[in-house]
Amino acid sequence: MKLIVLGSGTSVPHSQRASAAFWLETETGSILLDCSADAAHRMAQENLDWPNLDAIWISHLHLDHCGGLASLLFGVKWAPQTRTRRNPLKIFGCAGIENLLRAIDESNDYELLDQPFPIELHEIPAGDSRPGAEFEMFPGLRARTFSTPHTMESLAVRLTDERAVSLVYSSDTGFSEKLADFARGADLLILECSFWRDKPTDKHLELADAMRIARLAEPSKLILTHLYPEWDGLDLESKAKELWPGTMIAAHDGLRLEIEQQ
Ligand SMILES: [Zn+2]
Ligand SMILES: [Zn+2]
Repeated sequence: MKLIVLGSGTSVPHSQRASAAFWLETETGSILLDCSADAAHRMAQENLDWPNLDAIWISHLHLDHCGGLASLLFGVKWAPQTRTRRNPLKIFGCAGIENLLRAIDESNDYELLDQPFPIELHEIPAGDSRPGAEFEMFPGLRARTFSTPHTMESLAVRLTDERAVSLVYSSDTGFSEKLADFARGADLLILECSFWRDKPTDKHLELADAMRIARLAEPSKLILTHLYPEWDGLDLESKAKELWPGTMIAAHDGLRLEIEQQ
């Protein structure tokens, strides 16, 4: 698997950090993990093969995670690069994503789901916080989800490719030991770390929470992301190292990482 960080930031406008979006490539396809308003142009800036994107994952309805979905569909509908495309684009998202997309669609007759190629939209309901059933994002990429303590619909996702390489993306979450269980032993854990300390809400993590999850989950590699501007000028990696000795990387836009089985 290959990961490219498109957006390591939050909803707050920032000169260096776009809102949440990650590009993941496996041997059999590509998937966008969250689709902020910045995602479409960030894919192009990174020279990624966006016209052939196979799947999109939407973790929850906060707009720094899904606000670019309608405009991406508007973009690919009219882009010359997708005119000959026939492969479906699969969208897997939290409860309510279809409602949101249809509300935008019908507000101006955009016909966002009427593309040169099929759009397959699947909602994954939030249940209790036990992991949901396994499903396939595209052939060769299996997924399971976990209800996170952030919003009613918010989900973390665990992806496993054909070579058994695994990635967990928490998206936004409060602290949960069950989330650490869900992430246990992943080859890469992409974990939010919104705040350094004295977090203003239980619905996000601060550094001590994130590193407690890392200690419990013991991923081979950890990326900390969803960094509010209060992180500007602070050395996240050395602060994290004091709390967990494993391999930790502070996300930045444009970060590229090969993920291998350990
Ligand atoms: Zn967010
Ligand atoms: Zn959120």
